[in-house]
Amino acid sequence: MSDQLIFQPSAAAIARTHTTKERYEEQYQRSVTDPNGFWAEQAQRLDWVKFPTVIKNTSFQYPDVSIKWFEDGVLNVAYNCIDRHLADRGDDVAIIWEPDNPEDEAEYITYRTLHEKVCRCANVLKSLGVKKGDRVTIYLPMIPQAAYAMLACARIGAVHSVVFGGFSPDALAGRINDCDSAVVITADEGRRGGKAVPLKANVDKALQDCPGVQKVLVVHNTGADVAMKGSRDIWWHEAAAGVEPFNDPEPMNAEDPLFILYTSGSTGKPKGVLHTQGGYLTYASLTHELSFDYKRGEVFWCTADVGWVTGHSYIVYGPLANGATTVMFEGIPSWPDCGRFWQVVERHKVNIFHTAPTAIRALMGAGSEWADKYEMSSLRLLGTVGEPINPEAWLWYHEHVGKGRCEIVDAWWQTETGGHMIAPFPGAIPTKPGSATMPFYGVQPVVLSPEGQLQEQTKAEGVLAIKDSWPGQMRTVYGDHQRFVDTYFSQYKGYYFTGDGCRRDEDGYYWITGRVDDVLNVSGHRLGTAEVESALVAHPKVSEAAVVGYPHAVKGQGIYCYVTLMAGEQSSDELVSELKAWVRKEIGPIATPDLIQWAPGLPKTRSGKIMRRILRKVAENDFGSLGDTSTLADPAVVDDLIENRQNR
Ligand code: ATP
Ligand code: MG
Repeated sequence: MSDQLIFQPSAAAIARTHTTKERYEEQYQRSVTDPNGFWAEQAQRLDWVKFPTVIKNTSFQYPDVSIKWFEDGVLNVAYNCIDRHLADRGDDVAIIWEPDNPEDEAEYITYRTLHEKVCRCANVLKSLGVKKGDRVTIYLPMIPQAAYAMLACARIGAVHSVVFGGFSPDALAGRINDCDSAVVITADEGRRGGKAVPLKANVDKALQDCPGVQKVLVVHNTGADVAMKGSRDIWWHEAAAGVEPFNDPEPMNAEDPLFILYTSGSTGKPKGVLHTQGGYLTYASLTHELSFDYKRGEVFWCTADVGWVTGHSYIVYGPLANGATTVMFEGIPSWPDCGRFWQVVERHKVNIFHTAPTAIRALMGAGSEWADKYEMSSLRLLGTVGEPINPEAWLWYHEHVGKGRCEIVDAWWQTETGGHMIAPFPGAIPTKPGSATMPFYGVQPVVLSPEGQLQEQTKAEGVLAIKDSWPGQMRTVYGDHQRFVDTYFSQYKGYYFTGDGCRRDEDGYYWITGRVDDVLNVSGHRLGTAEVESALVAHPKVSEAAVVGYPHAVKGQGIYCYVTLMAGEQSSDELVSELKAWVRKEIGPIATPDLIQWAPGLPKTRSGKIMRRILRKVAENDFGSLGDTSTLADPAVVDDLIENRQNR
């Protein structure tokens, strides 16, 4: 289908990058044949208290998996993200904060201001008794204090666990207890899409089940009247006013923990992914610079929430380590209207814009006119991450947001990987809509058959695994190393198993076909859910689709499709037949949908990913036990789907 579509890098992208196609190939070879030499050189991008002499010390051998990078190095992550920039770019803007409400003023935080804010917060945390190695849970909206708090933890050597501000008290309590935090940082309230989010009230509820929490630091954000509990709750601004604006960064070993982050829970109970200092920061900053070809002075905007790994690596750590200007947006794409993203691009002259397929599809569904209303000539590069992007959505993004000029970087990676793993180097790698393209330096993807046979020929299909370690790799599941070993290294011995399926085409390009658990097996043919979904989304009346298998007497598995129509389109029986015929024509008879259900909304995780696990249950007519739904954004969507299910 879309494999034939190739976009060559633009002349502008070629002219500005240092990474030519030849250089990419040569450096890539070097990164995998001489990882010690390559990564020793890359580590020099950071400032070290003690530069490491041991670079790579890793083993994927089950059951003795162990991953260490730069193990005798000493550094401080916050120093690298702030202090070292003060001499020559102290007055550069580090963070542009754009509030939820477009009528409110944006804030421009220079590196110098960032330094003061972070030092004060670090001193406050110390005064609350937080020591090196202690865990701190951060439950904040998208306000600058979220970045200050993360960096303050890094500065004093505390381990942060950021919990997305949209999570319920139960989900929060589970995460606080799992990592045993004695301190929680929150705000009176958050704001999102014009609505208030009762963060402090949620924390109060959560803490009824968290006996270990001693102190709650509260940001005075909306000014809402909230209950403050005697000696436990402290206002951030009051505490910060009473401490010194300087703080000596704690020298940390490269392998000391930096943060814990719970995965989004698309496939089950979230895992407490643990990242460490030196390898993570080297990898986050290198991928940020190279995947986006970032140059000093450019305005970089990643729309993720800091509660997700994308927010950690590409709002906070990667950009700030590189001395970049990073935009932090409190709001949502559809409020006050569907032009909100583009208004922010115009307002702050954003050069690099990075978002997720879920947002792109939603904005495509709302109509192109929104993107046409704003002046977006500052844009140079567009990023997409989080799910396979349907080629149709890619093309829409390219044409209507990028006006045909901007490079598109589709980056495949995971909470577990710390940074991009497969993504096109702009200016070097031609792109194909729907493919994340080629591996980043040091990353050795392999395609295995489901039984574990290594597929050596270029053109191959199967499960995606990685052959050797890279510095940004997670080190363990917090408190449960066995779960780490079992989840990622037990199924395919000697490899890191990603859980994703993929196809490698004749040019060596990687196409993520969805999670392995979601692969369909129709009459003995294996089909990726992403492929069928992309065919549906390619229909002009469809804005979003989710496809799952269900037991089918003849075929083994039937194809069950949930379809969301474009704004203003009507569902009908004729359209059902039309869509079936359409997919049949696009992919082939084997992919013909058996059942189509109209879905005004799809169940999504809080990070916007479709939760196929739940859709599978509904399609199987077995919705009594939906499993862990605590990470769902809008549980009400599920009731509607159950009511209108097709397989009864
Ligand atoms: P859990 O592991 O708890 O089920 P999750 O996998 O959704 O949650 P993340 O680490 O946020 O949590 O997401 C990583 C996954 O997202 C990848 O394994 C892949 O399935 C998908 N993904 C991310 N980026 C891309 C991309 N560019 N193309 C295709 N899929 C992507
Ligand atoms: Mg995952």
